[in-house]
Amino acid sequence: MENLRLKMEDHILPNMLDRWFWSLSCSGEFTVASVRHFIDDHSLVDSAPKTLWIKVVLKKINIYAGRIKMDNLPTRFNLSRRGIDIDSIICPNCNMAAETSNHIFFHCPMAKDIYKRITNSAAAVVAGVLDVVKIYTSAPYLHLKLL
Ligand SMILES: [Zn+2]
Repeated sequence: MENLRLKMEDHILPNMLDRWFWSLSCSGEFTVASVRHFIDDHSLVDSAPKTLWIKVVLKKINIYAGRIKMDNLPTRFNLSRRGIDIDSIICPNCNMAAETSNHIFFHCPMAKDIYKRITNSAAAVVAGVLDVVKIYTSAPYLHLKLL
């Protein structure tokens, strides 16, 4: 208590009510922009673009892509790195490597299989659409109207 009294001896407290002060902004008021600037300045690498936001893609996809880029997903490896006690950091799908974002999305055999199936399905859909377009464009009595 004596130490506290000695430390407070040189300070003069103004006659006003206590209030919260947001130290990230000059005004002391909370702003989302001040938080965004703080995060940009402290967690993004300078050489990387600040934000890569594709407007035609859903917001949640943009956010997820950003989290993958920043390696911010709760993978087993990241959870372990943050000190969370887990049984194993090995990928539960293939048991071949540590479960990192890079492994999950680019190297895991299961992910590769899914991408292959999606690619084949997308190719089948495109081929089907092209077949329909061919049918409409080859029929002299039908007119294809592109919007
Ligand atoms: Zn895997």
